[in-house]
Order: sequence, then structure tokens, then C-alpha cells
Amino acid sequence: MLSVHCCCRKSGTGARMAASLGLTVIHRSTSPSSSSSSSSASCSRSMSSSSKPDKQVLSPEALNRSAALAAAQLVASAAGSAFVRPLRKPIALDQRSAAVAAGSENSTRAWLAARSARMARTQAENATSTPAAADATAAAAAAATAAVGQSAAFSVSNGLRGRRAVKRNLVSTLFAPLFAPLGADAKTLSHRYLTYAGLMVQHAAGIYALTPVGLRALENVTRIICEELELVGAQRTALPMLMTKELWDKTGRWTSSGQEVFRLQDRKGRDMLLGPTHEEAVCELAATKPLGRGQFPLMLYQLDRKFRDEARPRHGLMRGREFWMKDLYTFDVDIEHAAKTYDTICGVYGRIFDRLGLDYVRAEADTGNIGGVRSHEFHVISPAGEDTLLVCSSCNHAMNEEKAVAQVAPLPSNLAVRPALSGAEVDVAEQHALMHADKLAQALGVQLVDDFVILLHRHDRKLNHLKTQRALNQARLHRLDWSKLCTVIENASVQRRVRILLDNTLTGRCTFQFASLPPNLESPVLQAFKQHLSVPDGVVKCDISEVEAGDLCRTCLTDHGRMAPLVTKLGMEVGHAFLLGQKYSQPLGVTFTNAANKRVTTEMGCYGLGVSRILAALVETQLHNAQTTIAQSPAASTTAPAGAAAAATPKHQQQTDLLTLVRWPIEVAPFAVCFSFGGLGLSDETRDKWQKVALALHDTIVRQGILPVNAMLIDDRLGASAREQARVSDVLGVPINITIDAAQLDALALDPTSGAPSLEQLGNVRFSLTHRTLLAPRAAESQSLTALELLQVLQKLVESTPPRVSQASPIV
Ligand SMILES: [Zn+2]
Repeated sequence: MLSVHCCCRKSGTGARMAASLGLTVIHRSTSPSSSSSSSSASCSRSMSSSSKPDKQVLSPEALNRSAALAAAQLVASAAGSAFVRPLRKPIALDQRSAAVAAGSENSTRAWLAARSARMARTQAENATSTPAAADATAAAAAAATAAVGQSAAFSVSNGLRGRRAVKRNLVSTLFAPLFAPLGADAKTLSHRYLTYAGLMVQHAAGIYALTPVGLRALENVTRIICEELELVGAQRTALPMLMTKELWDKTGRWTSSGQEVFRLQDRKGRDMLLGPTHEEAVCELAATKPLGRGQFPLMLYQLDRKFRDEARPRHGLMRGREFWMKDLYTFDVDIEHAAKTYDTICGVYGRIFDRLGLDYVRAEADTGNIGGVRSHEFHVISPAGEDTLLVCSSCNHAMNEEKAVAQVAPLPSNLAVRPALSGAEVDVAEQHALMHADKLAQALGVQLVDDFVILLHRHDRKLNHLKTQRALNQARLHRLDWSKLCTVIENASVQRRVRILLDNTLTGRCTFQFASLPPNLESPVLQAFKQHLSVPDGVVKCDISEVEAGDLCRTCLTDHGRMAPLVTKLGMEVGHAFLLGQKYSQPLGVTFTNAANKRVTTEMGCYGLGVSRILAALVETQLHNAQTTIAQSPAASTTAPAGAAAAATPKHQQQTDLLTLVRWPIEVAPFAVCFSFGGLGLSDETRDKWQKVALALHDTIVRQGILPVNAMLIDDRLGASAREQARVSDVLGVPINITIDAAQLDALALDPTSGAPSLEQLGNVRFSLTHRTLLAPRAAESQSLTALELLQVLQKLVESTPPRVSQASPIV
């Protein structure tokens, strides 16, 4: 990609230079008038490079033990740390906290400086005598100087709002409209929570602004996604959100896409659209020049907003018109390799959901408007889900009901022996070699453009509309009323063609019932119907009815001869994978040159993850679980005194109380830790001591590399009551809370010079740490810990968050 020609005549030199260096690719158009209309601004937008955590590697050979220890001591003392003494067991650095730190430039610098010093110390402690002692000393001294420089900046802040200091996150300055009133349209729990906790503010139906707190949570989810995708070699890019009609015409989707696409015109009347999906755009990018054989599998992804003109935007972030999505597109040399890549990405999705702590299933799904040869949806299992899934109770094979196939359970005997109805008993076996069994069937007429179709299915089964649409290759079905259907059946042989679609479950002798048929019409209609059924090529057998719970899993039956029933579960769709084949790469010319020197079209896959939806799903599942737990707890019973108290609580109060039960996973939390101290009614002196002790602990956590400044929040409202402070921490879903008992502070005499607690003083203070999780948002016990114990417990909690990228993972 080093020679990209810029086709924009009016674009600036900078843009052309950027393009010539392969930094940008012009969104080309075939329209002759279009080349001059592209703005230089759009051209100069460079592809974003993937951001990786800073890797500061100090080789053990280059470090002298004593020099490095000195460096570590220097850093600690320059920063005014109360913990000059190294911890007995060095706290291991992990990649996760490095990535968490990436959010705040200043705090990250200080944090990295501390980390480098700590690494130096650890490595020096483990190092044996080094052959190049002089080099080592110089390197360690350089590291120490850099570290001190950064830490000095950090340590300037003695008060909560020190100048030139790293800004700590304070409740008093936090921008989040907490406890916002709930609108009437906030029906789902996630919608209610995200509004109430001030994570998002509605602009219009299905369009929301995320507050800094909301964006923190969203970015934590995106970080996990990026980390996992880049581990398998995916490369991040940024495709245009605004696209031309000409590009979408190449695949025919400008016409075939329905009303869900936001279309607009520019000032010259040129048709454009806001991207709901980016298969065309990524192909345009990938087709810049033929791909090299060594580049496969090529995986390009982006993390950005998408637009969809939903008919009924609802449920907050669950179904919006503007939403955050990760979309990955893969290119392979042939379909076998594309299928392998498909399996790899599905595996990556599993790891992402595991890290997020979400209970998910991967369900076979319809390819829909995107198209392709294979497709799976990823659903978070929740009673709030909008999709019905059929999941095997034995092998866990899952299917969306739109696509589900199964071995249908036999018709219940009470239906099979129902007395004869006024209808036609037709032996379809004679004509179509079907199995013999008595079945009841239901007829449904459908009018197409130039013919009629009669759908026949078991009357105890629902017709599956999507399967029927696929069978008839129709986007919409116009149902006929009974009288029209009868007229069609009677007159069709002379006037119009009639096709009959017979569901697979209808085998053998079937009784077709025409319940509302006027008696005078009964005979001629039935005769005509029998006639139509007797035409061999007039009847098509296919799968058009819905699968139900209790039907048998075909995978188990075919592979193991097991009779395993399917169960239904409700799921929230948070991801989708498609094996596309050449549907987009062929018309848009994404090719490579094979070994025989022939140009070959690549095979594609596309993979979406609804990032804002994942955020909503995390909340929705938690609050549903909490709601169920509360309903089942003995306290909920009206006979218990606590239950009586709960019953006396107004309903809206109960509802908002529920919303304070969210506890984010540590990796996703907008703030993983909150320091609070209910100072109501206490003296200024006590409050001042608390402030200093809390800051000393907060800063030590940062210096030890346990958590970055960005992950912690300090409730600096010193006059607030403990209850008021807890309410803020609760509504923000902070998983770890740290408080101090005021009685200890009275006996604490601060150093008159520095005004800070001495090492011994801080070492003697006992802190109270509470960790609450998704599963037990209320049932957490607080632990009373010394500062050193607290650091160790906190480190363990941070490290024990769901399995993540191990630093020991082999690099391939
Ligand atoms: Zn099964």
C-alpha cells in the first residue's frame, strides 16, 4: 500500500502526500462529477494505527542490581511515597493494567515511570552478577532519571486539585447526570439503568450521547475486543461512515437494501448513505492493489458507529438508530481457508464473552440481507432477550428459531384421533410417495405477483415466516382471507396457476379443514383442491413450520443416535458471523495472484459485535438476576418483617433501588475502585486527615502499577454522609470500595512539615475493602486490612479477573 493514487483533484498537498505514503485511501467514485466534490478533509483522514500498550523492556543483563534498587528508592522518595520500603513480594505487572492505563496520557506516564522502576527493581533482585556492570549502571541511572522526572510531576499534587498534577478522578468534578429521571419509554432494565446512572442521555428515539462515564465503560469493552482480535492478527482500520450510492450500486445493495438504510443527498444532489455495514467499503480498500499471497488471512476491522433507520428504535442501547459496532472483514485464498478463519474468529468471540463474564450461546442463523453461505449469531442468554433460540439439552447445539431444523415430535395422540372434520381427506401418498400417517393440516393462501401459493402445514404448528419467505423467494407475503382462498382454489385451474407448498412435517394421509367454508361452496372447492394436489409438479415439499421445544436435536440423532430434546431460551443478539464467499469480493475486485500467476477472487467473511449492545446486555443480565434473587429471597415474603418494610417502600423507590445493584466486572467498570469517607458531622481536622491518608493510598496503588489513576474515583465530598457517598458508588456500579474508620484518624498526628502521614502511621491504619460482583451484588463482606494487605488483596482481585492474554503466551 505504498503507492496509492489520490484521485481528488481539489485535495490539498498534504492529503496527496499522505495518500502517496499509503496513509489514506481515497473513497473513489465512478461518477464523473464526483471526483471534484470530495473534500480534502475526507482525503486526509488517515487510517488509524492500532494502539498497543507501551512495551518498556529493560533486559536483565542491562541492569545492575544495586543501581536499579537505588532507582526504585529514588522514584518512591521523589514521589513522596509513604511506601519507600519495597513490598516483600513484588507485585507482578500485567498487560491488563497497562492497557487500562492507556486511557489517560498524564497518569499513564507517571504510571509507566513507576512501572519501569519497579520492573528494574524486580529484575535486579532476580539478577545474578552482570558481566557488563558499567553499561548496566548507566542504563539503570537513565531509567531512574526518566522515572523520577515523570513521578515528580505526579507528586506535585498534594491537595485534591494541585496544579500541574495528574488529575485524580473526583466525584465533585465528575460529569455524569446521576439519578436522572426515567422517561416513560425506558422500559428495559438496561435502558433505565444507563439513564439513571448518568451513562447516557437521549437525544432522540434511538440516538444517545454517552457521558464520560458511559464512554469509559464502552472503551473498556472495546479494549478487550481489540486485544483479542489483534492476538490473531487482525488489523484495525477506519472506513468511511458516509458512502456513495455508486459504491453500493456495485453490489446492488443500494436497491436491495430496505428502508433501514439512512440515505441522504449532498449539496449537488448526489445520493449517499450512512454506513449500516461496510462490506463494500472494506472491499474498496482491500482492492487498492492485488493482495500478496503472504498476506492471508487478511483481517481488517474497525470500531465505530453504525447507522440504521429502525422502524421502532427501543430499549435504549439495545436497538438504536446510531450505535457502536466492531466489524471485522476477512479475506482468504479459498473457501476452505475462509472456513478455518471463520472458526478462528468464532473462537475469539468466545474468549471475548468469557472475559466479559457473559453467558452466551452461538446459534445457527439466517444469512439475511448480508448474504453468504454460513452464519452464526452470538446471543447473551437473558429473559430480556428478543430472540428465541432452540438449544439442545445434550450437545448444546443452538439455532435461532428462524433457521431451526429438528426431528419433529409426533403429533399428540389426542389430536390424531380427533373426529373427522368437514374437510377433504386427501391421500397425498398416492401422488408423492409420502409416509402413511393421519395428520391434520392447515391451509394458508398467499398471493404473489402473478400466481397463488397455498401453504399447507400441521395445524398444531406455527408457520415460520422467514422460512416461507425464503422458500418463495419473497420479501413480503400477502395473506389471503378464507373466502378469497376458496375462490382461488375453485377457479385457479382455469384462471391462474396455483402452487402448493407442503411442509415436511405433513406426511401421509392428511385431513384439510376449511372451517369457515359456506356449505354451498364446500363440495366444488374440495374437488378443485384435490385436483390441485394431484398434479405431481404442482406440490413442493419443504420446511416452512416452526421448530418447538421438545422436538429432537438432529445433530445428536444423526451423530450418536441419541434422542435429545431441544429447549427454548431467550437471547440478546450481540454478535454475528457470516461466511460470505465471493458475494462482495467478486463485484468489487478483491483479488490475489495465485501460484499459477492467475488473478483469483478472494473468499470473504464478515463478523460484527454490537459494542453498545454488549454494554446494555451486561447490565440487563445482572439486573434480571438481581430481580429474580430478590423475588425469591425470604425477605420478599410478606410475612417476614423485612418483607413488610419492602412492601411499604413505594414502587418507584423499589425500582430505583434495584438500579443501584449493578456491579461492573473490574475490567469493564468505568471506575474499578472508589475511595469514600462519610465526613458528615466530623471535624475539619478529621476530614483533612482522611483526605491525606486516602490520597497517599490512592497514589501508592498507582505507583505500584496495580491500577492506573484512570480506574479510580475519590469521593471528595467531605461533608456528605456515608450513605450519600455509598449511593453514588452504588449507582455507578463500582465493584471495589475502600473506606476508613474515622475513629482511627483522631489518634493520627500528621507530620507538621509535609502534612502527610508517615510510613509507620499509614502502615497502622486499617482500611475497609468491599468487593461486590455480578453474582453477589449485595452479599459482599468488607475486609479490614492494613495498607500493605490491601495492596496485595487489590492486586489479586485485578489479576483474578476473567482469563486474559497471558504475558507468557507464545508469540507467533
Ligand atoms: Zn444435540
